[in-house]
Amino acid sequence: MPTPDYQMPNADGRFGEFGGSYVAETLTFALSQLRDAYSRYRHDDAFERERKNILFEYVGRPCPVYHARRLSEQYGGAQIYLKREDLNHTGAHKINNAVGQVLLARRMGKRRIIAETGAGQHGVATATVCAREGLPCVIFMGAEDVQRQMPNVQRMRLLGAEVHTVHSGSQTLKDALNEALRDWVTNVDDTFYIIGSVAGPHPYPMMVRDFNAVIGEECLKQMPEAAGRHPDTIIACVGGGSNAMGIFYPYISHTDVALIGVEAGGSGDAHCLHAATLSHGRPGVLHGSLSYLLQDEDGQVLATNSISAGLDYPGVGPEHSYLKESGRATYAAVSNDETLAAFDDLCRLEGILPALESAHALAHAKKIAAKMKKDNIILVNLSGRGDKDLASIFKAKGWKTE
Ligand SMILES: *Cc1c(COP(=O)(O)O)cnc(C)c1O
Repeated sequence: MPTPDYQMPNADGRFGEFGGSYVAETLTFALSQLRDAYSRYRHDDAFERERKNILFEYVGRPCPVYHARRLSEQYGGAQIYLKREDLNHTGAHKINNAVGQVLLARRMGKRRIIAETGAGQHGVATATVCAREGLPCVIFMGAEDVQRQMPNVQRMRLLGAEVHTVHSGSQTLKDALNEALRDWVTNVDDTFYIIGSVAGPHPYPMMVRDFNAVIGEECLKQMPEAAGRHPDTIIACVGGGSNAMGIFYPYISHTDVALIGVEAGGSGDAHCLHAATLSHGRPGVLHGSLSYLLQDEDGQVLATNSISAGLDYPGVGPEHSYLKESGRATYAAVSNDETLAAFDDLCRLEGILPALESAHALAHAKKIAAKMKKDNIILVNLSGRGDKDLASIFKAKGWKTE
């Protein structure tokens, strides 16, 4: 179990055996340049002041923690608090990371930004901060995702980004990622690649965690004010794992706070399609780092499925693999149906439409709250708002939209 002086990753970007940097030779220079720049600026006062100021006046931080009283009563046990990342500008936690990386790009003198996106949320966050900085940006997106996520594609275009449609492979996120890496290799002199979760080669998992750690840092102050003490349990959904690492990280040394990550269980059957990497995968290399991975016996990456596009990824950030193996965090999966039920609960009992990703965390809170006492406290990271998911939800409910 990690000690109070938790220091991860090591100099090679390892979280225990996980992480590292498994990339083609052509990228090693770009990555070492990035590592040097990040180690120079991560503790730089002027950099930190500027980053915190943008989070304050542009993103709208700090966002509140909210005691969901009616939801707590309905679930019949522990008191449930929500960290309201859904109230950030652009409606999710992803902008925390985009702000940090764009500032770093500017410090490094990079004049062009690229990113990949699946559901489009990271693309929108990146296009947003690039508009604010006046930097040109290219977003790589699989053709399949461009079709499915047209409103986000149009949002990115409105923000001035170029959306580059990727037609190779399965035409989804992992192909967009490969294409973005190819672009980076070719244009490495003037281009900065913003990865959107705690995945990829070192230093990305550490850097994206650090830029999202503001979530947990705020909670460390807010929970004693709102509830009189720290929570007993923190729950967050896990796709790549950035919102979860953001809220977990400042609490890792608080060993009396239980940390639970919730993955997409899809239809609920482990033998069918899902995206529960830590629950059902085993270690392997994907997109530049060693971590748990959904793969078949031959090491072929498996297709995934979830009602929530943001959790629909066969890999997971290496620090989560480490937290799982060390026992400091535990991981569970909930099904699409459990997620939709929790989505309805929050809409009707609290007047909040959560993102389907975040509704996974709520669904797990529902399962464990009933077994806890009335004076126990669960803090759920409400990673985003649900407006982007309305089409999927109407479809799941069989509602007509015209
Ligand atoms: C992208 C996204 C996620 C999943 O990404 P993580 O890196 O696991 O946090 C979760 N919630 C929302 C609202 C998202 O947009």
